[in-house]
Amino acid sequence: MPEGQVLEFSEVTKRFGGITAVSGFSARVEPGQVTGFLGPNGAGKTTTLRILLGLVRATSGTATVGGVAYAKLANPLQTVGAVLEASSFHPGRTAANHLRVYARAGGIGGARVDEVLGQVGLSDAAGRKVGGFSLGMRQRLGLAYALLGDPGVLVLDEPSNGLDPEGIKWMRGFLRQLAREGRTVLVSSHMLTEVQQTVDALLVISGGRLVFQGGLEDLVDPSEYATVVDAPD
Ligand code: ATP
Repeated sequence: MPEGQVLEFSEVTKRFGGITAVSGFSARVEPGQVTGFLGPNGAGKTTTLRILLGLVRATSGTATVGGVAYAKLANPLQTVGAVLEASSFHPGRTAANHLRVYARAGGIGGARVDEVLGQVGLSDAAGRKVGGFSLGMRQRLGLAYALLGDPGVLVLDEPSNGLDPEGIKWMRGFLRQLAREGRTVLVSSHMLTEVQQTVDALLVISGGRLVFQGGLEDLVDPSEYATVVDAPD
């Protein structure tokens, strides 16, 4: 079983020209829990996650996985799995084919392709072309990519987007299971109500700044943050 790792953000700041997307952001994300990363649209969630994953360079500060910057991880795909946005897929290729190509390119072999398709509930659709997939099925396929390396850390940016109520329920149970296995699960959302039943701990970001960190039980007045995070799309 892969070990979860502590994620640590230390004074992370990111400026895009005159825009400060993330400002002095420091937080710790523990293994064995689902941590919700909440904030309204444009609060800086995606930028913070992309910095953690080495896709965006911070203007200052550091983000680490088990004390190591993502770029310096020995086996990144086996350490951190990420679902960042509705991934682009080749419509004419099957789900299984996508995963095999990705596994080969990532040097992790195709041995787990059938297993991860099963984990995300796509076994029956393995041989179907992705062009015919619903958004929810694409989200599951994106999650399958993230799981291929059997990582101890899962980072998911708004994974419930496009899922129907049944899919949302499934995702909730799935993330809880990953945390129960000891993995670190960080999941972003702009709605407290969407993650309230899923998470053990919360980070709330607003205007690029951390405005709350703690357990759900520490949220004295959830409605205070509900108004912060329930911004319309
Ligand atoms: P959403 O839920 O809409 O994805 P978010 O909380 O993920 O929002 P970010 O996407 O991180 O927020 O954006 C934070 C701020 O940084 C926004 O003002 C955004 O316009 C700006 N920003 C993000 N990426 C860039 C970029 N590449 N160039 C310029 N500005 C950017």
